[in-house]
Amino acid sequence: MFIFDAHLDLAMNAMEWNRNLRLPIADINHREAGLTDKPDRGNATVCFPELRKGNIGMVVATQIARYVASDNPLPGWHSPEQAWAHTQGQLAWYRAMEAAGELTQVTDLQGLEAQLARWNDPDIAAADKPIGYILSLEGADSLVSVEHVEFAYQYGLRAIGPGHYGPGRYANGTDATGKMGQLGLDLLNKMASLNIILDATHLCDDAFWQAMEHFDGPVWASHNNCRALVEHNRQFSDEQIKELIGRKAVIGAVMDAWMLVPNWVRRKSTPVEMGLNLERVADHIDHICQLAGNAEHVGIGSDMDGAFGREQCPYDLTTIADMQSLAGILRSRGYKEADVENVMHGNWLRFLRRVWK
Ligand SMILES: [Zn+2]
Repeated sequence: MFIFDAHLDLAMNAMEWNRNLRLPIADINHREAGLTDKPDRGNATVCFPELRKGNIGMVVATQIARYVASDNPLPGWHSPEQAWAHTQGQLAWYRAMEAAGELTQVTDLQGLEAQLARWNDPDIAAADKPIGYILSLEGADSLVSVEHVEFAYQYGLRAIGPGHYGPGRYANGTDATGKMGQLGLDLLNKMASLNIILDATHLCDDAFWQAMEHFDGPVWASHNNCRALVEHNRQFSDEQIKELIGRKAVIGAVMDAWMLVPNWVRRKSTPVEMGLNLERVADHIDHICQLAGNAEHVGIGSDMDGAFGREQCPYDLTTIADMQSLAGILRSRGYKEADVENVMHGNWLRFLRRVWK
């Protein structure tokens, strides 16, 4: 079945993890033998061949670079200009992958329909089909000024998550608290004027509710699970999920272990001992469906290889291609075929057709 994955840090893997995503996954992992600079070395699950194998023909792909003030212990750049330059390097990689025929950037409805038609055309060989990507910015710190949004829109940026982890220049993110200041509100106004999608993922609760009040443009949550199942401020409360449903949003289910099962301890717990398989992902998907009363507000936003790999995701995912199994799990839970299709791709497509019409 066709899969739309609304959150992958492809450029981060290429430019920070130094992974050549054009290679087979075994080659990427083989080359990381002995490396310890990142927690997930040798456990990569995402590359272009695996995306093709999994029939994942549309993704939302990120630019990501954090700014950190001198009192911020998180890793990041020491000025917004450095962070901006880093995202421009990531953009250059996306452009190079377009030139190589691996990716094609989707920025409007016409481009989306063209990509779907090409991807689903049986007369075109899989190797000749670029994977469609929508460019998104995870954490807005790298936008030196609000005016930079206009320039970014010109190169194809179509969604922005104002916050990420910790305090942000525009919005405070996961594990932080506090409302947005004028800069954050100005960013939201600029996004609304350009019809840029607000990604509510990673906004701290204060910023989330403030943004819902202030922003009248399109909202989605590219990668977010449920607080009712795993208690953490990174997850959405039922009230937040209901608010998003009311705004016709779609929420992407994440494959990151600690967001799927309670009491996961990073670098200690293993997926097998924690009983973590794709059934647990289906639990989060189903929770959102029960709150909505339908299967129209949840999709996949896997975040696979988003600074974690096979060691920290469901044990029945050897690579991202195995997300195909999710369709069968939903069927076995009684989901009708139309609803399975909604979750696997249809909800993101319907969202984009509405927002980009
Ligand atoms: Zn994230």
